Amino acid sequence: MAERVGFIGLGAIGTPMARHVARAVPTTVWNRTAAKAQAFARASGATAAATPRELVAACDAVITCLPTTREVREVLEAADGAWRAGQLLVDATSGDPAGSRRNAAWLGERGVGFVDAPVSGGTSGAEQGTLTVMLGGDARWIPWARTLVAPYARKVEHVGPVGAGHALKAVNNALLALNVVAAGEGLAALVKLGVPGRRAVDVINASSGRSNVTEHLIPERVLTGAWPRTFSLALLDKDVGVALEVLRDTGIDSDTFAAVKRALEHARALLDAGADHVEVIRGIEERAGVTIR
Ligand code: NDP
Repeated sequence: MAERVGFIGLGAIGTPMARHVARAVPTTVWNRTAAKAQAFARASGATAAATPRELVAACDAVITCLPTTREVREVLEAADGAWRAGQLLVDATSGDPAGSRRNAAWLGERGVGFVDAPVSGGTSGAEQGTLTVMLGGDARWIPWARTLVAPYARKVEHVGPVGAGHALKAVNNALLALNVVAAGEGLAALVKLGVPGRRAVDVINASSGRSNVTEHLIPERVLTGAWPRTFSLALLDKDVGVALEVLRDTGIDSDTFAAVKRALEHARALLDAGADHVEVIRGIEERAGVTIR
């Protein structure tokens, strides 16, 4: 019988990822808000499970895409009794390394494998099936994990043991956050000096300070005033917190990551709870009394 894959967490990025999985293999989905899982099943031909336990019982491998490692643990425990030896959990959550090592140990006691497999590329990369996937886990589970993530991935790298994928993802997102904050503050200053925002971004993108933020996020979301909500500021703040823990655990001193964390917390206090991560720049604009256009 063909392998059946379970997908848990049909959020902003989980939904397009699950769509690719459901096109590739027989798939069962579960989501906390059941209506989303039922609508997904109707549209994709996947099966909707009523509980995490029902999903785990029906599947050979499971992919989770939840806000943090805490929710992953809740789901693992909710399915206790259904896990069986030889299954594999691939965790696409941007989680925390220490929590994932604990989850891997909990599953290991049941004979179940664990690979952390956070993704980068945003909701558009998920729609296109071109995400970058960072695998952390024991080498014996990696070939299977690769086949499970393949439907939504363009680049898949095994970067180390359990937790290494999450550590790398957290550092990546701290760099994203740093670029958002620094570009927003620098551009606000330039606009105040009378340099048109569009011209400043154009020159930076032909110079050495350019980044994904100046090349894509600012032109598409700030200069247009579109401010779409695809990846929440709350989740980015969580990622920078994980990155700070990674630095602390490895004894690396950093004022920079801590300053970026403070800037995100400051922005969260100003913006509404559903704000997107790029809206940090909207907060900077408001405080500076300028618009970057
Ligand atoms: P969303 O907030 O859009 O979705 C969260 C999902 O988790 C929903 O399916 C939600 O269910 C479910 N959920 C929340 N709390 C619980 C709980 N206690 N128990 C069970 N399920 C729960 O998040 P995203 O899809 O944006 O992000 C998911 C993960 O992917 C995060 O770790 C994020 O950092 C990461 N990520 C996101 C990217 C993006 O561009 N959005 C890019 C790269 C990584 P419900 O529908 O009921 O609310």
